Amino acid sequence: MYTSHRPKIPKKGVDRSTICEHDCRSSRRKVFIVHENKRRPRWLLLTVFLLGPLAVIAALSVPSGADSLPNVDATHLADSNTHTYCNTASVTQTGATWYAMTTLRDTTDMTILSVTCNSNTDVQWEESNLSGTLRGSTLCLNTYSSGACNRFRVRLDITQINIGSWDWYDLRKTAVHELGHTTGLGHYQTITNAMKSGSVNGTALAWRRYEAHDVWHLNNDY
Ligand SMILES: [Zn+2]
Repeated sequence: MYTSHRPKIPKKGVDRSTICEHDCRSSRRKVFIVHENKRRPRWLLLTVFLLGPLAVIAALSVPSGADSLPNVDATHLADSNTHTYCNTASVTQTGATWYAMTTLRDTTDMTILSVTCNSNTDVQWEESNLSGTLRGSTLCLNTYSSGACNRFRVRLDITQINIGSWDWYDLRKTAVHELGHTTGLGHYQTITNAMKSGSVNGTALAWRRYEAHDVWHLNNDY
């Protein structure tokens, strides 16, 4: 992002791991209780009085691992809902980086903007020989004091990606996956989705899409 844009801070300073504990139904119920005017029975008030502090303690002790957010690197959220991006000269697979950027644009409320690589570009794509069997990597090159990342470097190792089958599917999945890390998404291992680590085992579109709960977070938190 350009510095003229204010660094993005998660909405209202709400801890993202806490947000995860509320689905729409429970949120509505909470609102209903707050606005309810009827007189409550005395036993209910007593129960709330006795159990309220316990509920607060339970909520505070929910491990962040209970959900897919925050990321493996929780301090590195994107700085706004607009991702500027560029391909460095090393990128040969521009179709894959374009695929990832447009997937983010088309499946979430985030927007994208192609720019010439500069020191404030949100996502700088590179191709590189990564260590070991790594197929992709995401690194925040510099952060704001808020913890949001000003500039991510995303690397793809094409040689590693091309090992095995479904290379074109694996390439695009890896690009979408690494891009997901630049928004704060962590790994989501239980079902087939882009944030599941490892290579694809088929051509299913789900491998190249963020899971619905992750999309919900992106749309709400940016
Ligand atoms: Zn990953």
